[in-house]
Amino acid sequence: MKQSKHFALKNRFIPSVEEGSADTLGYWFIFSEDRLLIAETEPNSGTQKPFTPKLLGIETTFTRLFGYYESVPCFLATIDPAQHVPFMSPVSLRALFGAVDEDYFSLAGRALQILHHTREHRYCSKCGTSLEDRRGELARFCPACGFICFPRISPAVIMSVVNGEHILLGRGPHFAKDMYSTLAGFVEAGETLEEAVCREVKEETAISIDQVSYVTSQAWPFPHSVMIGFTARYRKGEIHIDTQELEDARWFHYKDLPQLPSRITIARLLIDKFIRSAKEKYD
Ligand SMILES: [Zn+2]
Repeated sequence: MKQSKHFALKNRFIPSVEEGSADTLGYWFIFSEDRLLIAETEPNSGTQKPFTPKLLGIETTFTRLFGYYESVPCFLATIDPAQHVPFMSPVSLRALFGAVDEDYFSLAGRALQILHHTREHRYCSKCGTSLEDRRGELARFCPACGFICFPRISPAVIMSVVNGEHILLGRGPHFAKDMYSTLAGFVEAGETLEEAVCREVKEETAISIDQVSYVTSQAWPFPHSVMIGFTARYRKGEIHIDTQELEDARWFHYKDLPQLPSRITIARLLIDKFIRSAKEKYD
């Protein structure tokens, strides 16, 4: 079976966990609080070149090597937010989504999730002792009781619901004007991914579906999710939206679609897949 590579890294990355040193040449993902330092001169490509923080006069407060991209070491680091770094500006990861190279964005997302994990797991949740980094592994470890804590990843399902020539799309209150997208939601404790897909569609729109099948997945570092994409078929029901979650939901004909999410999202991939297959069948 051909492996789905839609949102996977294009080039080779080997994860590793080691101490980092600011005088090593590598890809540096340096955060000022939650914002990534990006070169002002080349906002879309500048920091993709390997550099050495020490040579640029950057004082890092925490550094960690998290892997090798095409054999070049990748480092995560933080700086004191008061530190001004000449020719570089801190930018939120959301603002970089779709604006920088996809592999670069993906590595930045990885770095930020590791940083969150380290910051948010300082003490053991069982006995209160200070946690330590576990050697060679992306985990925090309690030297007193042995508790091990891995980075948290919250799975979310996202689905296209298709009824012949129509697809079910909804819009949340914070969406860009006129934009609609596929429905999505977090997986709850104890349910399968397919159950989560059926429940979300039912809760948000009162529509019943069947034929739920997996398409692909996308890491979603906002702040620590993975989006798991499905297609499903309409079975029965009329649209009644949950107004807590949605502002509107409608059936859209494949030849008359609203504003759609950006091409690099899994939502768009699912919608494009629907359009292609509708064109084959009905054009
Ligand atoms: Zn403990």
